[in-house]
Amino acid sequence: MTNAPDLCLALETLAETGLPVADQAIFPGAAMDCLADIGVMRASLPTAFGGLGLGTEPGRGIKTFLMLHSLGRISLPLGRLVEAHVNALRIIARYGNPGQMAAAADGVQSGGVFGLWVTDPPGVAGLTMQQDSASLRLTGGKMFCSGAGHIGWAVVTAFDPACQDQRLLLLRLDGSERISPLPAGLAGMKAAVTGQVDFSGRILPVETMIGQPGDYLREPDFSAGAWRSSAVALGGLFRLTALLRDQLKARGRADDPHQRARFGQVLMAHETGRLWLHRAAVMAENLEAHPDEIVATVGLARLAVERACLDGIELVHRSLGLSAFLSDNPVERLTRDLQTYLRQPAADEVLHNAAGYFLSHALPAAGDRPC
Ligand SMILES: Cc1cc2nc3c(=O)[nH]c(=O)nc-3n(C[C@H](O)[C@H](O)[C@H](O)COP(=O)(O)OP(=O)(O)OC[C@H]3O[C@@H](n4cnc5c(N)ncnc54)[C@H](O)[C@@H]3O)c2cc1C
Repeated sequence: MTNAPDLCLALETLAETGLPVADQAIFPGAAMDCLADIGVMRASLPTAFGGLGLGTEPGRGIKTFLMLHSLGRISLPLGRLVEAHVNALRIIARYGNPGQMAAAADGVQSGGVFGLWVTDPPGVAGLTMQQDSASLRLTGGKMFCSGAGHIGWAVVTAFDPACQDQRLLLLRLDGSERISPLPAGLAGMKAAVTGQVDFSGRILPVETMIGQPGDYLREPDFSAGAWRSSAVALGGLFRLTALLRDQLKARGRADDPHQRARFGQVLMAHETGRLWLHRAAVMAENLEAHPDEIVATVGLARLAVERACLDGIELVHRSLGLSAFLSDNPVERLTRDLQTYLRQPAADEVLHNAAGYFLSHALPAAGDRPC
């Protein structure tokens, strides 16, 4: 296994040279293989299982940030698929037993991609499990499942009426699940191949369950993981900044004072997001601060990155004008992907709760915490 600096360097190179990913709901298999070849998919395995512990062991917040940010620069859908893989492995490392972690590590070492499917369809009962002494029977399914039909493993949540709570399950996807596209496709992030999956009728051994009832929603992990999707999104803003620079120069508009002012604002937006995410990454990965402080800090970081990206998109549109909407301009697709990816759950509630926390506790520390 390569080390983290070499991995980040390899990703930087890919971000510069580019890795083709079609703007279609087609799984980017060749690009994912390329990431696997340089060690991205194994990097999140704990070190005891041959990985670098990125996202699964403390003290690796900044390295994990660099990996995810670089992936966002390369392609937001690729970043989304890897981010889900990291999230799933983290859950298995945190709550799974040694046998489950070993099985997951074997899966990754033999090329498996993991997903995390936790979103229930609106207006109907979501995925439910019925348990007897030897087996579990699944009814219903999940929606917004990235990689559906293509990845080999998924961590899912299923409601267990016996304990009236959600349970985590580690599923080897064997083709028996019924995969379908979303009723209406997403405007952006098409290559993340986000579909819906019906597991009805699937019977599984009880060993499929990970951890205890309620583990999925246990804080700070439940909310703190949001910093990772923000890191990918911020990588998208970085690429947008580079495209803005290149296109302003190519059109001979880089010396215009208004264009320079907007370019400066985009740089500041990205740096604001980066500073927030460094703080959030260290807190969320080290888990040394109080859980409520971690959740509040990550919540603010997530929203700061959302704001930075939305401001960046607006400034880029104003700077490039209609050319940013031409279908052969990479800015068009990137802004569409970024706008779609920024839609993450419960934004108002996150701000309300984070602000509430800092109204009744010490303000965020002025100095950096050691990483
Ligand atoms: C590209 C992409 C890939 C995805 N892949 C996966 C995946 O692999 N697995 C998975 O499980 N999920 C996946 N998701 C879904 C994701 O986890 C969230 O479910 C989804 O992004 C929620 O976004 P939303 O804007 O609809 O959230 P909402 O929470 O519905 O927010 C929309 C707005 O409503 C407000 N709001 C929220 N709740 C309330 C309320 N009760 N009352 C009033 N207002 C409210 C919010 O503050 C916000 O302003 C993916 C999403 C995207 C964009």
